[in-house]
Amino acid sequence: MTMISVDEAWAKIHAMAGPLPVERRRLEEAAGLVLADQVRAPMDLPPFDNSAMDGYALRAANANEARAENPVRLTVTGEVAAGGWQETPVAPGTAVKIMTGAALPPGADAVLMLEDGRLRNGCVEVRAPVPVGQHIRRRGEDVRHDEVLLEPGLRLSAQRLGLLANSGIAEVLVYRQAQVSLVATGSELVAPGAPLAPGQIYDSNRIVLRTLLQETGSRCEDLGVVPDEPSEIAERIRAGLSADLLLISGGVSVGAHDHVKHVLGAFGMETVFWRVAMKPGKPLLCGRLNDRWVFGLPGNPISCVVGFLVFIEPLIRRLEGERDAQPRYARALLKSVVSKKDGRRHFMTAQVAPSPDGRLEATPTEKQGSAMMQALAQANAFVVVPEGRQEIPAGEQVDVLRFRA
Ligand code: AMP
Ligand code: MG
Repeated sequence: MTMISVDEAWAKIHAMAGPLPVERRRLEEAAGLVLADQVRAPMDLPPFDNSAMDGYALRAANANEARAENPVRLTVTGEVAAGGWQETPVAPGTAVKIMTGAALPPGADAVLMLEDGRLRNGCVEVRAPVPVGQHIRRRGEDVRHDEVLLEPGLRLSAQRLGLLANSGIAEVLVYRQAQVSLVATGSELVAPGAPLAPGQIYDSNRIVLRTLLQETGSRCEDLGVVPDEPSEIAERIRAGLSADLLLISGGVSVGAHDHVKHVLGAFGMETVFWRVAMKPGKPLLCGRLNDRWVFGLPGNPISCVVGFLVFIEPLIRRLEGERDAQPRYARALLKSVVSKKDGRRHFMTAQVAPSPDGRLEATPTEKQGSAMMQALAQANAFVVVPEGRQEIPAGEQVDVLRFRA
């Protein structure tokens, strides 16, 4: 199979990936999930005219003649607190003490702030005219009954959950969250904390992918490290096949011990693509198995991360129902020259930060390479060097692909 371009590879994923099934969830269990239905307002917000201030509910017309040197005195006949409800109208020449959020009693058409009215002998002194509607939040001024509150495809953030809760909505229809299984292959891999024998290295891809998945908001089952033995790889893959997406790190290249592709083939995996014209990250396998997604990510740590950001993160967002999930590219001003020798799309570790005028600037890390861990730790993004370019001078706008955190 020949190499496919990054854009063609993504287009294939995009075309094949539909959202996961929907489910009904209580708001408390819906944070971070994606709405599957349009939600309309079941009621006006606020539901009744109410006071925006602690103060006095009154008839504005009664205060037309109020002056500092000649205050109008209104008899305070009672008090209405938040949650209270007064049926009797505010009669001319009177006022009712009212608290923030309390329903405006009938007859009243304005609120005088507590601080602006002096209370003396059971009367409030009004020292200036009060405009009609002052400090009143009108029924429906925020939301009208039956207006669209939220469209499907939106992720439920704190702000959006607040709108739903305030509208009295307790349950929503959402897309199911993606369940991801994770396996790292490599006979050389040792868990941090254990001693290293000569020739061995510590496994870092698992913690990197787990954390990236966490930041994406998906649930991850970590199936651990497996040596480069076909039978052991097969056993671990079988354990991961119940997930919506199985991520396998390492063993997907063309080396003598790269068994992942064969093992998956024996399970009946249908290859979507294998090997992408990108650097790092070329030996990337994407397949479908029992209606689920399988990715073989290159073991080189930076390649693994690039593969995740370019394909897997946007795929997960699409599975979880986001309307037009795409890789999260942004534009930034390149601060130093980058160059490459081949026609693949290159991803270079970089620091992206806003300049004083607020525009993004990208500074590639000094060291570049598919296993440069320190450069990866310094980076918060990748600079994209497109297929057709050999060199990009400083000062040009480039695409950058950013980490979430
Ligand atoms: P592979 O894709 O299995 O050929 O691995 C490519 C390179 O990445 C090799 O140098 C591996 O030792 C290294 N590598 C593979 N898996 C991991 C991992 N989980 N953590 C760190 N390095 C790894
Ligand atoms: Mg390997």
